[in-house]
Amino acid sequence: MKRKSFIETSFPVKEISEISAKEKNIRHGHISTLHIWWARRPLASSRATNYAALIPSTENIEEWNSIRHFIIELAKWENSLNSNIINKAREDILKEYGKPPRVLDPFSGGGSIPLEALRLGCEVHAVEYNPVAVLILKCTLEYPQKYGRPKELKEDWSLLKTTIKNPLLEDVKKWGEWVLEESKKEIGRFYPKDDDGSIPVGYIWARTIACQNLSCNAEIPLMRQFWLAKKNNKKVSLYPYVEGREVKFKIVGDGYEKMPAGFEPERGTVSRAVAVCPVCGGTVDDSTTRKLFQQGKAGQRMVAVVLHHPDEKGKTYRIATARDMEVFRQAEKYLEEKREKLMEEWGIDPVPDEELPPKETLGFRVQRYGMLKWGDLFNSRQKLALITFSEKVRQAYQKMIEEGYGQDYAKAVVSYLAIGINRLATYLAVLTRWRSDVLSFERAFDRQALPMVWDYGEVNPFSDARGCWDLEPMLEAIDHSSRINSAPTPQSSATSQENGGDDNENS
Ligand SMILES: [Zn+2]
Repeated sequence: MKRKSFIETSFPVKEISEISAKEKNIRHGHISTLHIWWARRPLASSRATNYAALIPSTENIEEWNSIRHFIIELAKWENSLNSNIINKAREDILKEYGKPPRVLDPFSGGGSIPLEALRLGCEVHAVEYNPVAVLILKCTLEYPQKYGRPKELKEDWSLLKTTIKNPLLEDVKKWGEWVLEESKKEIGRFYPKDDDGSIPVGYIWARTIACQNLSCNAEIPLMRQFWLAKKNNKKVSLYPYVEGREVKFKIVGDGYEKMPAGFEPERGTVSRAVAVCPVCGGTVDDSTTRKLFQQGKAGQRMVAVVLHHPDEKGKTYRIATARDMEVFRQAEKYLEEKREKLMEEWGIDPVPDEELPPKETLGFRVQRYGMLKWGDLFNSRQKLALITFSEKVRQAYQKMIEEGYGQDYAKAVVSYLAIGINRLATYLAVLTRWRSDVLSFERAFDRQALPMVWDYGEVNPFSDARGCWDLEPMLEAIDHSSRINSAPTPQSSATSQENGGDDNENS
C-alpha cells in the first residue's frame, strides 16, 4: 500500500473501547468460552484495528466519516456474522491488495487478532510458543474452518442424501456425551445422591491446623468466612460452635435454625494466614501457619454439602456426615488402584508430578503452603475424576479410529474434549471457591492467579450445576468459528518458522 493506512491517520478509539468493554459479558459463541487465556484481546478491537490497518486513509471528509462509521459498525459483536457488513469489509481489503493480504501474528496467544483477520478474508499465519495456546489456536482457526462445514452423506441403501450441518460440532457433542456417560458409569458412585433424591452440587472443605497453644491443641478449621448464601432474599450461614475441645458446625439462617444474635458470618477463623482458635481464642501467626502447611502438618475437613433437588428450585445445604467422608475415603482407595493401573498402561504417572512454576509466576502463590507439584492442586476425589475423564477421552479416540474416522479428524474431535478436561480441572481443584453471592463455585484462575484458598469447594462433575462436565459453551464457540467462511489457518512452530506454511500436522 503506497498511501497511508486509515489507522495511521485516525481511529475511533472511544467507540471501539466501549464496544470492546461490553464484550466481557458475551457468553454465547465467543471464543473466550472455549478456553481461558491471559489477556486475550477483545474481538471488537482486533477486528477494527485489522481493518483500519488494511484500508487506505482518505482526505475527503465525507469518505473519512463514512469509513469511521463503518469501522464502528464492523466492530460490534452482533455484526460478527452479518454477511453484508463482513463482505463489504472483505471487498474493501481485496480492492486495495488485489488478493487476500498476508497477515502474520507472531504472538497469537488467545487467537483474537488472527481470527478477526481470518474473518476479513486475509491469508492468516498464526505463530505461538506456548503449547496450550497452540491447541487453542488449532481449535479456533483451523479445525472449525476445516471440519465444521456442511457435509452431504449419501446412504448406500437409499437415494436420499442427508446433510449434516456441522459434522465437527456433532461429533464433539456425541463423543463428549460418551465420555461423560462412561466416566459416570465408573466413578458416579463416589458422588451419591441423598436419600430424598437431592444431588450434591459440591462439597465445602476447610483446611485445618492445630492450635499452637499447647494446653489447647484443638483442630482449627480455617475459614475465610461462614456465608453459604448471601442474597437479599436468602441468608444462610455455617455457624461454628465448640463442643468439648472440638469445633463443630451447624447451618443457620433462612429455612434453617435461627441465626444467633450478634453472629457475624463474614468474620472467619483466618485472614492473611493469621488463624484464630475458636476454642481458646489464641492466634497462630502467618509464618507459623505457612510453616505448618510446608511441614505437611495441615489437614482438611469436609464441612458442608451443597445440594440441588431435581424437582425443586434453588440449592440447599447440610453439614457433611461420616457417610460423606466414608464415600470420599472409598474414592481415595479407588484412586490408588486406578493410578497404578494407568501408570502401567500409559508409562507415566497419570497424576501430574511435575513441579509448579517458581513462586509468583503468573500469580502462583500456593507454593508457600507446600503445594509444589501440579498434582497438589487437587484432592483425591478430584484426581480420580480428572484421570478418569482423561482416560475416557483417550478411549474415545481409539473408538473413533476403530469406527473408521480419519486420524486427523479424530484428533480434532479429541482436542476439544481435552479442552473440556482443562475446563474441568479449573473447577475440580483445591483452589476453587464457593461463592455465596451467586450460589455457585468459582473456578481457580478466575482472577488469573492462583492464591491460597482456605475453604475450598469440590464440584461434582456429574451434577448439572456450574463446573460440571459441560461442553455447551464450547459447542457454541465451534459453531461461531465454523461460520467464518475462510480457509483454515496454517500454524507454525515459533521455534522453527521454516517448517510453517502448509505443514499443519507437525506444528
Ligand atoms: Zn486453641
